[in-house]
Amino acid sequence: MELLSVVVPCYNEEENVKDFYDELMKTQEYFHSREVEFELIYIDDGSKDNTVVEVHKLIDLDKRVHLVSFSRNFGKEAGIYAGLEHAKGDYVVMMDADLQDPPSLLPTMYEAIKDEGYDSVATRRVNRKGEPPIRSFFARRFYHLINKISKAEIVDGARDYRLMSRRFVDAILSLEEYNRFSKGIFGWVGFSTKWLEYENIERKKGETKWSFWKLFLYALDGIIAFSTVPLAIASIMGVIFCLVAFLLIIFIIVRTLILGDPTSGWPSLVCIISLISGVQLFCLGIVGQYLSKAYLEVKKRPIYLTKEDI
Ligand code: UDP
Ligand code: MG
Repeated sequence: MELLSVVVPCYNEEENVKDFYDELMKTQEYFHSREVEFELIYIDDGSKDNTVVEVHKLIDLDKRVHLVSFSRNFGKEAGIYAGLEHAKGDYVVMMDADLQDPPSLLPTMYEAIKDEGYDSVATRRVNRKGEPPIRSFFARRFYHLINKISKAEIVDGARDYRLMSRRFVDAILSLEEYNRFSKGIFGWVGFSTKWLEYENIERKKGETKWSFWKLFLYALDGIIAFSTVPLAIASIMGVIFCLVAFLLIIFIIVRTLILGDPTSGWPSLVCIISLISGVQLFCLGIVGQYLSKAYLEVKKRPIYLTKEDI
C-alpha cells in the first residue's frame, strides 16, 4: 500500500472540517482500488473557534486523521510548511478546508503523477468568478509584474491545491527560509509540473481570511522574496537624478556667467528639494524592506510553534 497525505490548513473553519472529510472520503473507493491509503492532516493555525474540537471528533472516529495545532495564528504559509513537514506519504496534497479545492479532482491528479511521471500536479482557476472586480484587477497586475521581475515562474490564478511526489516535497522542505512565499517556491524548485484548470468555486461556508490589505502585503512579500529588481530600480533612480543634477549645475553656471546672479528661483528650489527627498526616502524604504526581511531571516526563528500534535 502507498500513502497519500492530505494536508489541510485551517483557520476558524469549524463549519468546514467535517464537510471536507465527507467530501474527501468520496474518493476513497478509487484510491483503495489503486492500493493507496489516506492520511489526513489538519493544521490548526491558532483558530479561535471550535475547529480543534471538530477535528478531535474526527480523530475519535478515524485513526487516519491527524491534528497539528499551532500555539497562535502563524499564517497559511506556516501551515503549508508544517503540513509538508508532518506528511509521511509517498504523495502529498495541499487543500483548503473550504472545499474551494474539489477533492473530485484528486484521481486525475494522482494519475498524472503515477502514470504520466510528473512530480507535481498544480491547479489554476480559469476565471475569478465571484471575486470583487477591483481585487481581480490588482491580482492580474501583480502576476504580470512579478513575472517580469522575477526568475521564478508564478502562474496567474494558481491555487495552492497541488499534489506532489515525495521528492518534490523534500525539495520544498529543503528551502528553510523564514519568509515563505509558496507560489514562488513551487515554481523555483523546478521538476515537471502538470497544470489542471477548473472554474472558480466559491467558498461554501464561513468567510475568507484575506482582506484586500492582507493580500497587498502578501504581494509585497512575494516581490521581495523572489526579486531584487526594486533594489536595482533604487540604484538606477539614483544615477538618473545625479545626471540631471549635473546637467542643471552646468546650466546654472553658464547662465550665471552670461546673465549674472539675480536672487530668484527659490520656489523651484523647494520643489526640487521635496522631489528629491521623496525619491531618497522611497529608495531608502525599498532598502529597508529587504533589510527587514534579512533581519527576520538571520534571527532564525521557527516558522511555527505547535501546541498539540496528534
Ligand atoms: N488559512 C490558514 N491560516 C490563515 C488564513 C487562512 O490556515 O491565517 C487557511 C484557511 O483556513 C483555508 C485556506 O487557508 O483553509 C485558504 O483561506 P481562504 O479560503 O480564507 O482564502 P481564499 O480562498 O479566500 O483565498
Ligand atoms: Mg478559500
